[in-house]
Amino acid sequence: MHRWRSWYWFGLGVLISVIIVISSVYALADRTKSQEPAKLPLANTPSPITIPTPTPAPTISQPMSTPLGTKYGHFPYAEINRNRLIVVASYGQKEYQRYVEMEREAGLALFRLMNAARDRGLWIIPISGFRTVDYQADLFRRQVQKQGSEMAAARISAPPGYSEHHTGLAIDLGNGFAAGEGKPDITEQFGKTQAYEWLQKNAQTYGFELSYPPNNPQGVMYEPWHWRYVGSDYARQVFAQARSNPKG
Ligand SMILES: [Zn+2]
Repeated sequence: MHRWRSWYWFGLGVLISVIIVISSVYALADRTKSQEPAKLPLANTPSPITIPTPTPAPTISQPMSTPLGTKYGHFPYAEINRNRLIVVASYGQKEYQRYVEMEREAGLALFRLMNAARDRGLWIIPISGFRTVDYQADLFRRQVQKQGSEMAAARISAPPGYSEHHTGLAIDLGNGFAAGEGKPDITEQFGKTQAYEWLQKNAQTYGFELSYPPNNPQGVMYEPWHWRYVGSDYARQVFAQARSNPKG
């Protein structure tokens, strides 16, 4: 009887031990499972690529500061947020020096254009890119003095607040090989250069178009040197918005 009893307690002990071991194993397995890292994508699933978020587009329409409607045929443009600009060149004449800046994407496209032209033996140089409204006011004032009236001046230069140069998307280009031949920059002579001929055929490939071809509907003088970038959604939006102005 005594012997039977000890076997009973022994068996019960073994059973309890087995139960404890089994439940511990299950608990451990459960813990390991919950600590497992998130399932990795299958080898053939394309892993997500981190695309840098572009800086948000600045507000193009600023009703308080942007004049409404056109002025002497020029569309209104707001100054681009300056932190969107990159330096594309430095320009100098005698002691006068300044940087030429453009909106980043437009500037990078300009580099591609300039490199392609250089591969063809042509040397295109950026002369004037982004301009503040204040700087344009200065240029326009001088043009009014020269031409005698605002209307006459506007054929040659946009009034402040109406220049494509405010957007950082417009660029005046020159012929680098003509340096030293008097004052060749920003004249109709540029329209007779090989550089211009190349631009006419190829600028579009890089997202650029001539803003003021001969007899343009805006009534602005032919400007073979003045090109604008329309190769991005942002750029197209800027120009479309200027034209969609109800009073324009
Ligand atoms: Zn220009």
